[in-house]
Amino acid sequence: MINITLPDGSVRPYPKGSTAMDIALSISAGLARNVLSAKVNDEVWDASRPIHTDARLQLLTWDAPEGKATFWHSSAHLMAEALEALYPGVKFGIGPPIDDGFYYDVDTGDRQISSEDFSRIEEKMRELARQKNTYTRKEVGKADAIQYFKEKGDEYKVELLEELEDGQITFYEQGNFVDLCKGPHIPDTGRIKAIKLMKVAGAYWRGDETRKQLTRIYGVTFPKQKELDEHLQMLEEAKKRDHRKLGAELELFMFSEKVGAGLPIWLPKGTALRTRMEDFLKKEQIKRGYQPVITPHIGKKDLYITSGHYAKYGEDSFQPIHTPREGEEFLLKPMNCPHHCEIYGHRPRSYKELPLRIAEFGTVYRYEQSGELHGLTRVRGFTQDDAHLFCTPDQLKDEFLGVMDLTMHVLRKLGFQNYTAQISLRDPDNPDKYIGSNENWDKAEEAIIEATEEAGLSTVTVMGEAAFYGPKLDFMVKDALNRSWQLGTIQVDYNLPERFELEYIGSDNQPHRPVMIHRAPFGSMERFIGVLIEHSAGNFPLWLTPDQVAVLPISDRHNDYARKVLAQLSAEGLRGYVDDRSEKVNRKIRDAEVQKTPFMAIVGDKEAESGALSIRKHGEGDLGSMKMEDFVDYLHKLEEEI
Ligand SMILES: [Zn+2]
Ligand SMILES: [Zn+2]
Repeated sequence: MINITLPDGSVRPYPKGSTAMDIALSISAGLARNVLSAKVNDEVWDASRPIHTDARLQLLTWDAPEGKATFWHSSAHLMAEALEALYPGVKFGIGPPIDDGFYYDVDTGDRQISSEDFSRIEEKMRELARQKNTYTRKEVGKADAIQYFKEKGDEYKVELLEELEDGQITFYEQGNFVDLCKGPHIPDTGRIKAIKLMKVAGAYWRGDETRKQLTRIYGVTFPKQKELDEHLQMLEEAKKRDHRKLGAELELFMFSEKVGAGLPIWLPKGTALRTRMEDFLKKEQIKRGYQPVITPHIGKKDLYITSGHYAKYGEDSFQPIHTPREGEEFLLKPMNCPHHCEIYGHRPRSYKELPLRIAEFGTVYRYEQSGELHGLTRVRGFTQDDAHLFCTPDQLKDEFLGVMDLTMHVLRKLGFQNYTAQISLRDPDNPDKYIGSNENWDKAEEAIIEATEEAGLSTVTVMGEAAFYGPKLDFMVKDALNRSWQLGTIQVDYNLPERFELEYIGSDNQPHRPVMIHRAPFGSMERFIGVLIEHSAGNFPLWLTPDQVAVLPISDRHNDYARKVLAQLSAEGLRGYVDDRSEKVNRKIRDAEVQKTPFMAIVGDKEAESGALSIRKHGEGDLGSMKMEDFVDYLHKLEEEI
């Protein structure tokens, strides 16, 4: 017998050689129907693979990210089988799962595959799925494996095989298709009920542009048709909300080929919005005892060698800047932390000064591959709402609570209500991987867990995900389309204080190392605003939106009165503009709607006489007539609400 430990901690005996599927069946038939694969200790396995030793076991269903990955990866095999049936002689590169489905890189020789072929391929996949073919794992010797793919004429698989070690090679077979693969896969093709191919693109073999360009076919599959329908609907909505599209339409930001890819340029409206976010956080931080600092955009290469960032970003990022002086090298800063460590260390520190919280909206530069760039969410230059907190190990929990409170306040003000905290802790089986004493790690991990409990946050704890230099907490935020974003990280660090030899004199008159916390509630201003645009569909909270009111004169003779109205609104601290073009008022309303201006104040003869305003709300329509002071009060209240 073997002992199987389930996620709830219970231990059950099973005959040696039992599979995850056997174990699922022993729990319930319903569960077994939904099991896609299983985590055995820390590896994901086929649910049909025999387990021969005591093990920790987690059954993976569609709801688990690894379960989904197994499902989509198995779907790539199904697509490959369909392609082989329809295009005999097709050769295969790799076919992994991705965040929203899967792809397979294929070489169809002189035949072209385009989206017009999709329905034929999907139909074949459905036919093969209905056969409920099992995915069978087979261990193969290297020589035999190479022989197989040489005979088949698939040089890509042969190349992959040549780099593998003998004794670790497995084939998977389903129906008429055999693939070189380490797995795992779902039990059978019958689980795949809904299939949609999404697009084709060119992809160089092994990402090397000197090698052959293969055809990459993307697809997505689901266990239920309804889930596919919902997914496609979500993609439609996401297209409408794409921040790159809305950012251009609302004139928030732009990119210029001449300035350089991945370097966002903020237009006046976007700058106004971003500045308001920064001002809001700066004010909050001052209230909470942070001290703003400003540091340069470049630093000597040696600084980043000391911090370790050169090892991480140096070779693969922007290259050093040389000066006329021999041997003098500067780097564009990839991180603000080293500069802040220098601030901490510029004079002796006493325990009485701790916690020391220094904050900076610091712009950093990292070279991302051009293929990775994406609007504001993947860029080469961005501004972090960065701060570094230096404290004693005993102050860690309170500092954590403070930072969590600030982060939740920020998320609430920006209209994000749905989030969980992901806590990343040490790998208990690998204690030597980490820097810092065990005692300090225990203290820090306890502090994080207790702080999240006290804050009433719902949390997910992942063992072994901590950085080597400290545990961390990430806010995983769901947007309006139910997509998950990692925003707001709080990271404990025992490494940089060590590398920069930071100290404070304790109450015992002895020198001690402070603990450092890195934190950024917005993370990157660019990325956060990109996510915010898509979350809000460009309908920003009233306190933040670039223009709150469009004043729309009915005809040219009302322009002067409209300007007076705007002046009165401005005097009350509200923002807007007068649309004094010689256009029909309906046209002006339509344009203000497109600009997503939250309120329109329409003024004509009646309004000019009575001193009232005719108010429309974006997306809702007429609110009727309002006196100026009532409208002002109404807007101020709305600003406060969120
Ligand atoms: Zn596979
Ligand atoms: Zn930092």
